[in-house]
Amino acid sequence: MNFRVPRGTVDLMPGEVEKWQFVEEKAREWCRRYHFFEVRTPLFEQTELFRRGVGETTDIVEKEMYTFEDRGGRSLTLRPEGTAGVVRSFVEKKVYGDPQPTKWYYIGPMYRYERPQAGRQRQFHQFGVEVFGTKEPLLDAEVIDLGYQFYRSLGLKGIRVELNSVGCPDCRPVHREQLVAFLSPRREELCKDCQSRLDRNPMRILDCKNETCQAITEQAPRMVDHLCEDCSPHFEAVKEGLDALRVPYVLNTRLVRGLDYYTQTAFEYIVDGVSGSIGGGGRYNGLVQEVGGPDMPGIGFGLGLERVMLALEHQGVELPLSNEVDCFLVTLGDEAQKRSLSLLQELRQGDCSAERDVQGRKMKAQMKAADRMNARLVAILGEEELLNNQIVVKELATGNQETIQLDKLVEYVRDKRNHG
Ligand SMILES: [Zn+2]
Ligand SMILES: [Zn+2]
Repeated sequence: MNFRVPRGTVDLMPGEVEKWQFVEEKAREWCRRYHFFEVRTPLFEQTELFRRGVGETTDIVEKEMYTFEDRGGRSLTLRPEGTAGVVRSFVEKKVYGDPQPTKWYYIGPMYRYERPQAGRQRQFHQFGVEVFGTKEPLLDAEVIDLGYQFYRSLGLKGIRVELNSVGCPDCRPVHREQLVAFLSPRREELCKDCQSRLDRNPMRILDCKNETCQAITEQAPRMVDHLCEDCSPHFEAVKEGLDALRVPYVLNTRLVRGLDYYTQTAFEYIVDGVSGSIGGGGRYNGLVQEVGGPDMPGIGFGLGLERVMLALEHQGVELPLSNEVDCFLVTLGDEAQKRSLSLLQELRQGDCSAERDVQGRKMKAQMKAADRMNARLVAILGEEELLNNQIVVKELATGNQETIQLDKLVEYVRDKRNHG
């Protein structure tokens, strides 16, 4: 039997993993600068949490969840997104009782049963942030800016934000009513999904990818024209914040996001070279309460890291990665061989990466191995050098070679790495 990775999953191999580590490091670095703290919640939660927290009528809950019963008969679901679990944790640990705001981030795998394609996997990875405890619109701009800075720092070009306000439970019903009145006469022309959305969640028709649906909704009433006296100034202030931060954005009145819990600000990140968004988020002022907590606002984003990788690839961005080993130790003779182990330890303890030949090969083969491993320096230890407490160091890039004191090796290697 030939085993294969499950459909929609991949093995990330050495060479590829370094790119992921680089991207994840950038995410952590920006979170540190914006004063966010990492939270790690379980990969699976009670199924009911996602029904409540993501929304019954969403594609995720209707078609995409990995749901199973455990041996105790509990219905559990692999997390299809990050926010619900984080909110559950915020509520369960009563963090809402602490001084606010709470600023958290997460990085990790999520699971959705989708048709796999480039940049979309069934096990995929998200970097997300959540802020609880404030409705301040400038914070919305700050959160959007954090994601923007993250993408930019990776070297991506043409990043922009699509922005909308999806209103609140006060103003949304008015828009909903108008939307239903506008769409009902043309119900039969809508796609199957949208016909059912018309009764349950008409706003989602606005972001249907079906061409006929899009043509029909071209002239549909827009949420931004129906914002209440809370939502309207909030939206204006978010835009002013983005202007002040010089984050490029465009209004997209079709943007409603796939999840039911959004209120007011909704946004997505778009980038050259990749169709569709590479991340997005919004405000969810009702979600904490929906999950059993007090009435407390929140906002966040989730960025798909597979999408980021695809964008980096399509834009031909070269990440500044190095697979160099600082020093390859070549030994000649038994005595030198014996000394090599502790010498390598000294190098490693001295913050240098170091490697050696483990097959007892001849000098020439060892040099070849050093070259193949991209060694910056080769240190050659023979019987004679050992007797004189010396070692020969050779820079592979230039071929320059000199003999130094053995006890100066660590310093020498470190210095070469840091200052060339
Ligand atoms: Zn409103
Ligand atoms: Zn449709």
